[in-house]
Amino acid sequence: MVEVRGVHKSYGPLEVLRGIDLTVRPGEVTVVLGPSGSGKSTLLRCVNHLEKIDRGYVTIDGEYIGYRRVGDRLYELKERDILRQRTNIGFVFQNFNLFPHLTVLQNVIEAPLSAQRRPRAQVEALAAELLEQVGLSDKINAYPRQLSGGQQQRVAIARALALRPKVVLFDEPTSALDPELVGEVLEAMKTLARNGTTMIVVTHEIGFAREVADTVVFMDDGLIVEQGPPAQVLDAPRHERTRAFLGKVL
Ligand code: ADP
Ligand code: MG
Repeated sequence: MVEVRGVHKSYGPLEVLRGIDLTVRPGEVTVVLGPSGSGKSTLLRCVNHLEKIDRGYVTIDGEYIGYRRVGDRLYELKERDILRQRTNIGFVFQNFNLFPHLTVLQNVIEAPLSAQRRPRAQVEALAAELLEQVGLSDKINAYPRQLSGGQQQRVAIARALALRPKVVLFDEPTSALDPELVGEVLEAMKTLARNGTTMIVVTHEIGFAREVADTVVFMDDGLIVEQGPPAQVLDAPRHERTRAFLGKVL
């Protein structure tokens, strides 16, 4: 279970997150919508502590992310402990971020071997299984430059899952793709959702949200304006700002 409580984040004078509360239960898919600049990426980056939080906290299965609690105070963890925690959290970026000098298989097994120190045979077996799940068994020895954007993003998804994370965060995973490649990545994500992967997905793909999300969250100006099941937030939004946004993207 992921719990975000009262999270505030500023860059200098700019308050980007102004008190975010969010609960994601195991196996659930939360889709985050909102206009550009509303703080969606910053929120994801706070969940895996790529950003320090000014106020509030994030816990995953009760463990504070990035911090250790002593009494009422939070103290930032050492880099090593932050890296260890981060292996519980998969992250799929807009621009794939694969290692260009490593093959598909090497990309997928790198972190489980080096950061989690799991046995190679076990990690390779899981990698082969995950690459089959995302439809890339035949590309296992290819290099990223030999793959389409959609294929690279599916490798990135397999790589995130190879950590056996408690939650996978997606930041606009299809935004950098040519339109004809979007579907194959969304299909791979739907398979994960069906298999019970806990996911937080920032996307503008309303169809995906409608079909896959348990909860849709609409953010604007650093706040969650409304959240609820897709049928409520997408089809009967209560707030004018949600309606205006959906009017533009639908
Ligand atoms: P979104 O993902 O919803 O488009 P972001 O979380 O990327 O929004 O950004 C929210 C706001 O924070 C924007 O105004 C952006 O310019 C600002 N911002 C994001 N990252 C930084 C940073 N590292 N330094 C300063 N401002 C930032
Ligand atoms: Mg963003």
